[in-house]
Amino acid sequence: MELFAVPDVPEIRPGDDLAAVIRDRADLREDDVVCVASTVVSKAEGRLFDLADFPAGPRAREIASNLEAVTGDEKDPRFAQAVLEESVELLMESPFLLTETRFGHVGVNAGIDRSNVPDNDLLLLPKRPAESAERIRAEIPADRVIVTDTCGRPFRHGQRGVALGWAGMSASRDWRGETDRDGRELGVTVESVVDELAAAANLVSGEGDDGTPVVVVRDFDWGDHDGSDKHFREIEGDFVRQALRGWEHE
Ligand code: GDP
Ligand code: MN
Ligand code: MN
Ligand code: MN
Repeated sequence: MELFAVPDVPEIRPGDDLAAVIRDRADLREDDVVCVASTVVSKAEGRLFDLADFPAGPRAREIASNLEAVTGDEKDPRFAQAVLEESVELLMESPFLLTETRFGHVGVNAGIDRSNVPDNDLLLLPKRPAESAERIRAEIPADRVIVTDTCGRPFRHGQRGVALGWAGMSASRDWRGETDRDGRELGVTVESVVDELAAAANLVSGEGDDGTPVVVVRDFDWGDHDGSDKHFREIEGDFVRQALRGWEHE
């Protein structure tokens, strides 16, 4: 398997045809997996906003002043307002905002980005990254597309790439029912391939001024495994989220 960045991608602006940008700059093959940083998907989809677009309501003002008190840093209530509007659930409001976005992804500040955004204050995540992935896929020779973002994680320092949406492939490879080297049957392993490829692509795309938001994964072989499209946990099986909600156990 091989990964490479698509060269010479310009600064992406609202309304740009991202699929055309990609297919014009890479000799794509049908079984390539094209990983696209959500930053450029968002730019193309016009998800650029200014703080002035989010007049803060009372809840946002309360959250911001609470955050300011806890962190000692100045917090703009309009940023808190933007996060609230992008979210369906607020999981933590101190010392940072951890929310579930409308499409099911849990992340800090609803994934709202302030880096690599030239003319605006804020870049919101794509509204429905799976649909974004499908739209790009329909217009390029490659059959598989993943929309990625760089994200922190609990329990470990450092960020890495994750999949926000994908098209043309299953999210996970299901190893259950297969056997290990000693013939023992695997009972629980469902491998999140889209996250693993997103992390690998993120390694190539970089985080700063590299200018390489699109990474092609070539010769990735799915193998003979069942697929699953489960990615974002439902509350019933999400014990960490239940703990955050103060779930009462028997
Ligand atoms: P995120 O992980 O989706 O939040 O995206 P990042 O902000 O980390 O950017 C990922 C990569 O895309 C980095 O190499 C950036 O320099 C690059 N990048 C971001 N926006 C653009 C753009 O509009 N054009 C180009 N060519 N590169 C960009
Ligand atoms: Mn960024
Ligand atoms: Mn981001
Ligand atoms: Mn990144």
